[in-house]
Amino acid sequence: MRIKTKLTLGLGLLFALIVFLGGIAAVYIHFLKLDTRNILHDNYNSLLYAKSMLSALDQKGDSRLIHFEEQLRKQEGNATELGEKEMNKTLRNYFESYKNQGRQPEELMQIRVWLIEIMEINMQAIELKSELANKTAIQATIWIAIAGLACFAIALGLLMNLPSNIADPIQKLTQSIKQIASSNYKERVFLDKNNEFGELAQSFNTMAQKLEEYNSSHLAKLMRQKKRIEALINSMSDVVIGLDETMKVIFVNQEACKVLGLAEEEMVGKSSKDIAIYNDLMRMLVKEINVEVMEKEPLKIIHNDKENYFDKQFLHIELTPTGEEQKELVGYVMILKNITEFKELDTAKTRFIATVSHEFKTPIASMKMSLQLLKDERIGHLNEEQIILVDSIQDDAGRLLKITTELLNLTQIESGKIALHLKACALDQVVQDAVEANHIQAEQKNIQLKVDLPFALQPLQLDLEKTVWVLTNLIANAINYSHESSVVHIEVLQDDLATTIRIKDEGIGIPPEYVDRIFDRYFRVPSTHREGTGLGLAISKEIIEAQGGRISVNSEYGVGSTFVLVFKH
Ligand code: ADP
Repeated sequence: MRIKTKLTLGLGLLFALIVFLGGIAAVYIHFLKLDTRNILHDNYNSLLYAKSMLSALDQKGDSRLIHFEEQLRKQEGNATELGEKEMNKTLRNYFESYKNQGRQPEELMQIRVWLIEIMEINMQAIELKSELANKTAIQATIWIAIAGLACFAIALGLLMNLPSNIADPIQKLTQSIKQIASSNYKERVFLDKNNEFGELAQSFNTMAQKLEEYNSSHLAKLMRQKKRIEALINSMSDVVIGLDETMKVIFVNQEACKVLGLAEEEMVGKSSKDIAIYNDLMRMLVKEINVEVMEKEPLKIIHNDKENYFDKQFLHIELTPTGEEQKELVGYVMILKNITEFKELDTAKTRFIATVSHEFKTPIASMKMSLQLLKDERIGHLNEEQIILVDSIQDDAGRLLKITTELLNLTQIESGKIALHLKACALDQVVQDAVEANHIQAEQKNIQLKVDLPFALQPLQLDLEKTVWVLTNLIANAINYSHESSVVHIEVLQDDLATTIRIKDEGIGIPPEYVDRIFDRYFRVPSTHREGTGLGLAISKEIIEAQGGRISVNSEYGVGSTFVLVFKH
């Protein structure tokens, strides 16, 4: 039954019963009132009149007859019972004859008898009527009790059923809505189908079914996409490891399993820190993941019984959650790119350059010596053109020797064979040697080499030859990239903490966008027209850092550059 019908019926019936109860009560009260009024009016008055007449008979004098007459008239007007009228008439006859025929005691006697008769008939009537009233009262009580009981039963029925009838389905629906809210789309509600809650439950179930369908299609789509991404990552030849923000492994590809020597199940879902306890490679990766400046050196791993080199890349994945403005870290991706092939090629190239430059050095040196001899007057006289030719060959040979030396240095650095011969070096000696090596070039451009050296310089533990080479190279650059007739300032500063060497020029400077790349191998500022290999600064940096120092540059394009070497004590 519908809730509305149930409520209307229940409350309507209750209302009708209350009206019925009120009606019965009113009717019976009215009947009872009529009964008592009848007794009072019809019979009680007759008794009063009869009693008054009897007491009038007992009085003396003629006034009693007047009084009797008066009461008799009233009684004659109140003949309500069957036969009472005739009794009144007989009484009147006796009274008249008593009054007119000498007041005979027999008549008085008869009057008394009839008065008692009248009283009796009224007494009987009172008895009958009070019995009737009693019956009416009992009837009223029964009807009122029946109606009251019916009211009580219906009210009790409503009280027992209605609240649970309304509250139970609401509770069921609330619970189901909560289930849906927590993504349990399989939830359904089953309620009595014939009322409003049934309709509501049906609508709810339809909604849940649609959500379930949508969710499963969405899920299937997501699963397909996930599989595609997994296949993609798996097909990569690089090692890929995904971590969440708590460093728990979310995914690994097959290459990662191979290189780490662990099965996927041994990693996915586990904390990378736990894996790092028993896996050296994972330990190394976890250690580096939060290091700001990562080591650029490739990672060497023995894999498949041979040395493999991997380039490391750690990505910090950040997302902006919906409705928020600030990004938050959601995980990391570690990528190890297998560069073994390139490394092997590079090593082959380095070896080749090393061999070639080494093989070149001796013939070039002997060429230079031969040229020197050629210029010697004792061997023979050269004419002016020949001297110019020899000078030019000598220049070229010098340049070739410089390039060969740089390449040889580079191969030493690249193969990790940079051999340092550290000994206590007097810095003034280092600076003087480097200045000396450059003074001809400086003179040619009319550039003044200004040297500022403090008096008492503490010696430093350096490789003399290589440090002189670096300084020579920096001063040569300063001269090369300076305008004619300018000043190159070489300055050494020393305090308790560090020794600083500055080479400052007033030359062309370095465009700001290239300052960061100036120490890269083979890098040359694109607009540079001078000859060079782009190796000098790269080699200088390696040599200085190998000795524990730091090299940097401050440069203003068009104003000049200052190269700074710092050796901390
Ligand atoms: P190279 O001088 O053989 O080209 P370097 O490694 O010594 O190689 O220098 C790299 C580049 O840096 C140069 O090509 C030049 O463009 C720039 N550079 C170096 N020193 C200076 C300097 N003092 N002033 C301006 N540019 C410079």
